[in-house]
Amino acid sequence: MSTEVRVRFAPSPTGPLHIGGVRTALYNYLFAKKHNGKMILRIEDTDKARYVDAAESYIIESLEWCGIKADESPAAGGPFAPYRQSERKELYQQYVQQLVDNGHAYYAFDTAEELDAMREKLKVKGVDNPTYNALTRTTMKNSLTLPEEEVKALMENGVPYVVRIKIPLKREVRLNDLIRGWVMVQSSTLDDKVLMKSDGMPTYHLANVVDDYLMKISHVIRGEEWLPSAPLHVLLYEFLGWEDVMPKFAHLPLILKSDGKGKLSKRDGEKHGYPVFPLEWQDPNDGAISKGFREEGYLPEAFLNFMALLGWNPGTEQELFDLNELIQEFSIERIGKGGAKFDIQKARWFNQQYLKNKPDEVLAGILAGELKQKGISCPEEKLQKIVNQLKERVEISSEFFETGRFFFQAPDTYDDKVAGKKWTEEAVSILQAFADQIEDKEVLVADDAKALLERIVEQQNSKLGKVMPALRLSLTGQGGGPDLMNIIEILGPKEAALRIYKAVEVLEIKV
Ligand code: GLU
Repeated sequence: MSTEVRVRFAPSPTGPLHIGGVRTALYNYLFAKKHNGKMILRIEDTDKARYVDAAESYIIESLEWCGIKADESPAAGGPFAPYRQSERKELYQQYVQQLVDNGHAYYAFDTAEELDAMREKLKVKGVDNPTYNALTRTTMKNSLTLPEEEVKALMENGVPYVVRIKIPLKREVRLNDLIRGWVMVQSSTLDDKVLMKSDGMPTYHLANVVDDYLMKISHVIRGEEWLPSAPLHVLLYEFLGWEDVMPKFAHLPLILKSDGKGKLSKRDGEKHGYPVFPLEWQDPNDGAISKGFREEGYLPEAFLNFMALLGWNPGTEQELFDLNELIQEFSIERIGKGGAKFDIQKARWFNQQYLKNKPDEVLAGILAGELKQKGISCPEEKLQKIVNQLKERVEISSEFFETGRFFFQAPDTYDDKVAGKKWTEEAVSILQAFADQIEDKEVLVADDAKALLERIVEQQNSKLGKVMPALRLSLTGQGGGPDLMNIIEILGPKEAALRIYKAVEVLEIKV
């Protein structure tokens, strides 16, 4: 690529960053790194009505958690600072002026009531979706219809006005999207979008194009929902005389619900109980909590790997990629056109792959945090042994505690089915002998526990298979789980004996 690759992730702080936003950020990042370019984080906060205070820090924390690091951003600064649009307000004015002077934009003084009246009138005439456009503008109150002196007077008297783009009546607007190929739109389908609001703030469309130009953005990689706006942006580049440096566009496919019917939404997460946001989010208005992948127990690297493959494919069977491999392999050509179905089971699978390869001390640290919240303390060394036993059995780290609850709490219920079948006189007799021999010991390693149990089984002319389910039941309350001898080693012989005695007392022998 001849010019320097400069891409930007340009979220609007209107709420929590949806995972689709994380994916956009990730693809921008991968593309930038692959081509030794720069990724810019630009906060597009010109829409004061939709601004949510905590959203910017949420976005930043989400990217940090995932390990997506912008080269230039409000926090890191950079040669094109500021990177928050509200702080660039003054900058846009000259471009608005340029558009007006060149006849590509105009002032519009219509009040909200007048706009409503226009829409109503057109609806009555059978127009489904009435807009302010090349036809309707001729009937409205703007600098194209009013005499120049009146426009001047209105402005001098402080009558509120907006600046609208003057969309040509009949033009074919084309753009060559890197994912979709040629996109062609008739300008008659476009409306005269507001470029600058009455408070002097630019709208998204103007600020976005001006900043992409000023920040020397080479590629605009963003969600498909922006594709309908792209022709307008192309016109703006043309009207501002910037066609030669217009960035290349790549509009990413939607992330779909798991059944493929429609866009994945916050409500899908609520309905199915899975996260659709990277981090937990509390709605500042109603206090409602939306789940986050982080809090649900996903590792950031697994989450990223999952997200990377939601719309992009490497063209091989390989599924596990660390960030560096993703950078190596990533290409826009391998991004699909069709929507990508969200599959939480796949996310869990990815997480398990990463979880089971994590060192025990790291996993122990994660579990320790959860135990602390529950007021349970456990020595580090023991915790490491516990996670080692559990890591093949859980998919997300928040399942550690439930899956291994018996390591911390003696069972107070016992699986009925196992008890009904396996709690036999033969088993209980062996268990009792076993408990008697271990209750005074300080330590008992797994191998010794096994040898001892085998000896007792032999003495009693029984078989290991006859006692194992009962032993597991007494120690864990369950019918399945990690290796029993390891459980005994971790619990310690005293605790194991106590649990056996308790079970003997509580459970009725099957006759
Ligand atoms: N501010 C827009 C958003 O919130 C950015 C769209 C774009 O990347 O152009 O998604």
